[in-house]
Amino acid sequence: MLNDYDILVVNGFVFCSQHGHECCSSCVCDFREQNNAQIEDDICLDAGLDLAQRKSLNIFDVGAVRYRKESQTCKCETHFDVDCERCFDWVKICMAEMTGNPLPGKVKRLKWPVDESEMHL
Ligand SMILES: [Zn+2]
Ligand SMILES: [Zn+2]
Repeated sequence: MLNDYDILVVNGFVFCSQHGHECCSSCVCDFREQNNAQIEDDICLDAGLDLAQRKSLNIFDVGAVRYRKESQTCKCETHFDVDCERCFDWVKICMAEMTGNPLPGKVKRLKWPVDESEMHL
């Protein structure tokens, strides 16, 4: 198991700090199960979809950047917020992944019903 210095925690989800993966073969870690536990009560999946089957996320793919080079802390690129609930909305991100929508580089480009309040930011 990696120690605290080798992980990134972003809005409750854990990733390997070197590569930003949830499941990383180089770091020999898989945080999906513990990450799933954070959202399983909030996520509502169609029958036949199992959270345990989802692909590993990469924190940098969803718009996180390091505070500084080599920093163990990330922020979102858009709002500079460490635990940004808009950018790191794991329920939304995992739903998109599970339902087959391709996960684009940025969360805000997800094909997802966006409520009006978010459109004007
Ligand atoms: Zn890694
Ligand atoms: Zn943000």
